Order: sequence, then structure tokens, then C-alpha cells
Amino acid sequence: METTGLSADYLVIGGGAMGMAFTDVLMAETDATVIMVDKHHQPGGHWNDAYPYVRLHQPSAFYGVNSRDLGSDTIDQTGWNKGLYELATNSEVCAYFDQVMQQQFLPSGRMQYFPMCEYQGDGRFVSLVSNGDYQVKVNKVVDATYMHVTVPSMRDPSYEVSQEARCVPPNHLPRVGGQFQRYVVIGAGKTGMDACLWLLKNEVDPIAITWIMPRDSWILDRAMIQPGAALFDNSTLGFFAQQIEAIVEADCVDDLFERLNACGQLLRLDENIKPTMYRCATVTKLELEQLRRIDNIVRLGRVQRIDGDCIVLDEGTVPTNTSTLHVDCSADGLERRPTVPAFDGDKITLQSLRTCQQVFSAALIGHVEAAYEGDAIKNQLCTPVPHPNSHIDWLNTTLANNLNQAQWLQDEGLQKWLLASRLDGFRGLLVALTSTDPDMQAIVQSMGENMLPSIGKLQAFLAEVEAEAI
Ligand SMILES: Cc1cc2nc3c(=O)[nH]c(=O)nc-3n(C[C@H](O)[C@H](O)[C@H](O)COP(=O)(O)OP(=O)(O)OC[C@H]3O[C@@H](n4cnc5c(N)ncnc54)[C@H](O)[C@@H]3O)c2cc1C
Repeated sequence: METTGLSADYLVIGGGAMGMAFTDVLMAETDATVIMVDKHHQPGGHWNDAYPYVRLHQPSAFYGVNSRDLGSDTIDQTGWNKGLYELATNSEVCAYFDQVMQQQFLPSGRMQYFPMCEYQGDGRFVSLVSNGDYQVKVNKVVDATYMHVTVPSMRDPSYEVSQEARCVPPNHLPRVGGQFQRYVVIGAGKTGMDACLWLLKNEVDPIAITWIMPRDSWILDRAMIQPGAALFDNSTLGFFAQQIEAIVEADCVDDLFERLNACGQLLRLDENIKPTMYRCATVTKLELEQLRRIDNIVRLGRVQRIDGDCIVLDEGTVPTNTSTLHVDCSADGLERRPTVPAFDGDKITLQSLRTCQQVFSAALIGHVEAAYEGDAIKNQLCTPVPHPNSHIDWLNTTLANNLNQAQWLQDEGLQKWLLASRLDGFRGLLVALTSTDPDMQAIVQSMGENMLPSIGKLQAFLAEVEAEAI
């Protein structure tokens, strides 16, 4: 089999949301040529494998790529997202990324796109369908696979399932849901919440649902992650100011979480339990109200094995039977990975620069690549923020976010870029800084006074946590 030689300025490995958002900015702000390689048949990465009823967890208004709107900024009038900005479905997200590829990237004449191909390292990739074998010569390689996203349909569960038991990924629920009398949802992250909400929306009696919850989670309220005009009605920005105030006033980590909960920053399923997980799961208050209808919650650790008549967990067993459908929602989603420099010579590694804002982060890395010279300054502007996992990571990521934001505010050119970036869900912050509205000025003043003390407080809390761990 002959190897085909190719050349371009950049090789982007991965056409998921991050690879697309990075490439979009690179192509808009430079004349660069790009080769993009991806194992999927179309752009969008994990959205091609997602369960059919998944929607974005945060508004469409700041998802996708910078150069193209996603959705129409409609406020939902019905459903459990009522009153908030629309959330694209997975088919909308896939169609959107495909349009970006077909209508923008490819017609530019600067993109060579290789779907259904796997990168092997050292500039070589091969087709997963034909005998295609390619060797590329490029100036830079962009790793847009570093987040290691795993959704349940991409792998078998990590626990054993006996032949008598029926266990499916959440993707199968719409097809087989009606055939079972009971449901066991395994996993308490956002996918588990979505599976529970799908069952409840389809009028499954909450008594027929068992929810296996190895850890309780701190949850974000979607009402506080609203873009555009909402920033000006004291909601998102007001929430942000309250968050900083809560940090400054807290006298220990537990007290901080109680304060964040009291001011609606962080929600939890059960007010009597201290959650130990935080992974940016986001719901509305209406969705939380629905989830609270499920009483049968199993807090006995992780599932080890599902037999025909019982589920074996780390700390006990619960009965099950063959007329029960087990829904595996235990995949890791986005892994907590070690951070690496975003810019390292001829390699760029896409990572979050703001917690759980991956597309914004990838676009910003694209802009920094296009507009700045030298890895030192580029890395200074692009300090990665690792994906959170435990409740303590709320402190780490909030600190890292605030330090990054402070850094960006000192760069006039970057401020202008952020203001024009539709992916920056917090761009209203920049507008607020120059607002003459007295309410807004009061919020900005409170934030200004509390920002530095809050950074010091988070550092002190984290030092305490570290000392206790030794
Ligand atoms: C259910 C869910 C909902 C989400 N909702 C939101 C939301 O509302 N708002 C938000 O901002 N973020 C959301 N996110 C996170 C975010 O949108 C992105 O999904 C996340 O950053 C993953 O995108 P990615 O491009 O990093 O990874 P992926 O989507 O995994 O893309 C990586 C691509 O690289 C390919 N690849 C890997 N290895 C190779 C190789 N060797 N050769 C070729 N190709 C390779 C993969 O096939 C894949 O297509 C959500 C995530 C999940 C899982």
C-alpha cells in the first residue's frame, strides 16, 4: 500500500467541539492551511455518540464556533428549561458542526478534512475504512483529543453484568424503555440526571426508578449561566458577585459550601447531605424539583456487579430482577487529566482555560496562536484549568478561572477580542466594567473590592486542605 504525502501549516487531530472551535479562529485570523483528521464520519466528536435526548447543558448562545451562531437565542417558553435560553439537541449540534465544515472550512480551500481516519503519531494517519495511509508534513500539530471524552455508548461498563440482567447505555432508553417495569439508573453525574429526567418526562412513576449514586454532587443552576442581556439584570453578574462575597465571608471550606448553597450558587439534591463531587453538572430548579421526586436513592458506593437478582455495590447489595432495565450512566465524561503547557514548540494541546468552557477555551487558544509570538507569552495567557472532579476542585477551578480572567483583563487587545467573541459567556462582565447604570456599578464595585481578598481566601483554604491531607 502506497503512502500519500500531504502538507499544510497545521495538523489538527480531532474534529470535536474543541478542534472545530480552535480551527475556526485560526482560519478567521490567519491564512493558515489545515489538515483535520478524525475517527468519526462527521465533525462534532462525542456528540455523534451521545444519547438522542441529550441537549447542551448550557445555552446554545455561547456554544460551537465563534464565527457562526448556534440557534436563535430563543427563550424557552415551555418545559423544564422554561424562561432560559435555548439548549441545542445533539442532532442540532452535529448538523451545526457539519455546516461549519461544509459551508465554511472546505470552501475556503485551506482545509483538507479526513473523517474516518485515525492518527498514529509521527505525522502519520490511516483510514479506518479503506487502505488509505497518509504522512503529513506540517509546522504544528494540534492535539484536540486531550480531554479524553468518554460517553457510555463508547465502551462497556467497568462492572460485570450477568447474562440474566439487562444493562444498556442511555442511548437505548427510547428504544427499549417501554418493555420494563423498573429502572435502575447507575451514575449520579449529568448523564444519570438526564436519564432520570427522560424517564420522569415520559411519565414513569418515580417509585419505579432506583438511582445509584456513589457520590452526591454539587450542581450548577443554569439560571446563573445565562448570556447576553441576562448579565444586565443582576442575574449572572449578580451571582458572580455573590460568589466572591461568599468566599470572602466564609470561615472554613464547609462554611463556604453552605454559603454558596444558601445564595443559590451551588445546588444539591438533598439538603441534608454534603456533596463530595463537583463536575459542572448543570440543571434548572424545575429539573431539580423533578429529580427530588425519586426517593429510592442508593448510596452504597460504586456498582461492582449486576447479577440476575441483585446488584453488588462497594458497601452492600440491593435487589433487582429480570424485568428491570439497568441504565449505565457511569462513564467518565470529561476526564480529570494532568495539565500540560498549551503551547510547546511545534505542539499545541487544547485544554480548558475556564472551567467547563471548552469551546471558548479552544477558540481563545486559537486566537492566542494567531495573535501572539513566543510560547512564554502564549502560555502565560493560556494557563489550563483541569476538569473538576471533587468538591474541593470547585475551589481550585474558581481560583484558576479568576487568575486567568484577571490576566486577560490586563491585555487591551485581548479584551477587545473577548468582547467580540460569542463563545465568551461572560463577556457582559467587560461591558459591565464601563456601565453607568448605578445597580451595575454597585455590583462591579463589590466585585472589585472582594476579588483580591477572595483569591487570598481560596489559596488559604486550599493550603489547609493540602495540610490536612498530609
Ligand atoms: C453530554 C455532554 C454535554 C455537554 N454539554 C456542554 C455544554 O452544554 N456546554 C459546553 O460548553 N460544553 C459541554 N460539554 C463539553 C464540551 O462541549 C465538549 O463536548 C468537550 O470539550 C469535548 O469536546 P472535545 O472536542 O474536547 O472532544 P471530543 O468530542 O471527544 O472530540 C475529540 C475527537 O477526536 C477524535 N480522536 C480521538 N483520537 C483520535 C485519533 N487518534 N485520530 C483521529 N481522531 C481522534 C475523536 O474521535 C473525537 O471525534 C458537554 C460534554 C458532554 C459529554
